[in-house]
Amino acid sequence: MRRERDRSRICREVQAHLPGLVDGTLPRWRRGLVNAHLRRCDTCRAELERQRAVVAGLDDLEAATAAAIEEPPEGLLDALLERAERPGVRGRAAVPVRGAVSGARPGLSVALLVAGALAGTAAGYVAWKGTRAILSRVRPGE
Ligand SMILES: [Zn+2]
Repeated sequence: MRRERDRSRICREVQAHLPGLVDGTLPRWRRGLVNAHLRRCDTCRAELERQRAVVAGLDDLEAATAAAIEEPPEGLLDALLERAERPGVRGRAAVPVRGAVSGARPGLSVALLVAGALAGTAAGYVAWKGTRAILSRVRPGE
């Protein structure tokens, strides 16, 4: 029993240092201790992998957002102008419907709304996975 408790205490301490290990800010001496524990502990290794995946996802999001700003997808400018011309919440809410009616690909309006929400925060990693699927349909050749 006592061993189990010690073990979970160590795991908690190790896991508290994982972000520093992932971003490379963990001091060298501590990195050695953490790595030694990771070699023996599946739970903490899985947690490390999870954190690496999240960080990689955020990097992707940042790169994709930058790329979308540098080369706007076809029709993006028109859609933005159209939205800017329509004042108020009602105009904004009408955009997806209008995009579908006017023959623009309806996915674009949805992607715009989602990308707009994401661009401000960079925290919507899970939402981004869905957005990327939409964007890949909206932007031909990707
Ligand atoms: Zn552990």
